[in-house]
Amino acid sequence: MLLPLLLVPPAIAGLAYLFLYGGIEGPIDWAMDTATHGSRDHRRIALTFDDGPDPQRTPALLDALAELDVRATFFLVGGAVDAHPELAARIAREGHEIGNHTYTHRYLPLARSRRVAEELATTDAAIERATGAVPALARPPYGGRSTRNVRVFERHAKRLVLWDVNSNDWRGAAAETVAARVLERTRPGSIILLHEARDGGEVTIDAVRLLVPALRARGFELTTAGRTLESRAGT
Ligand SMILES: [Zn+2]
Repeated sequence: MLLPLLLVPPAIAGLAYLFLYGGIEGPIDWAMDTATHGSRDHRRIALTFDDGPDPQRTPALLDALAELDVRATFFLVGGAVDAHPELAARIAREGHEIGNHTYTHRYLPLARSRRVAEELATTDAAIERATGAVPALARPPYGGRSTRNVRVFERHAKRLVLWDVNSNDWRGAAAETVAARVLERTRPGSIILLHEARDGGEVTIDAVRLLVPALRARGFELTTAGRTLESRAGT
């Protein structure tokens, strides 16, 4: 698929790429009802944490969320759940929502459907073993998706959830910078992308401690992605 695209002018290749693999809210997402945010008429918003569980970061993040009395959504990697099932169990026990973030965290758009199905099924099984429940939501690694593989998500009864606010917390900026960026971009219904498992992940936890009171002061209600999307129909 990519080779023929290299032979045509970049603008056309760019458009073809957007059509085939989907930019955020590109044609694929209109067709598949991919969610990047909830209703703009309600002040519900969701913090989402990708790539865990992680023994270095998850316990401190959960402690912070408990102190702040926030319920959030965790898009977990199946392989990490199998390595640390007790952390996945704690996430669920403390009232957070869990989503499927695939087993190996590979970029999926060029993967075969069978491979995508395996990624989803093995992660569902890992999460069910650890928590007793199969997740209803899923987020593809890097947000990467194609028309073909979003259908696999659909066949696994997964709601595809992306984000409309990217914290860029993986780029090494200070917590204050990350928090200010999120605060500036958050609107009613926003779904905010953060990461719980990576080097320097303390920045994310510090940013959350700054963000939660600031978002509440602006009248936002922090809840799970599933709940933020509840009111989306018809908007
Ligand atoms: Zn990820």
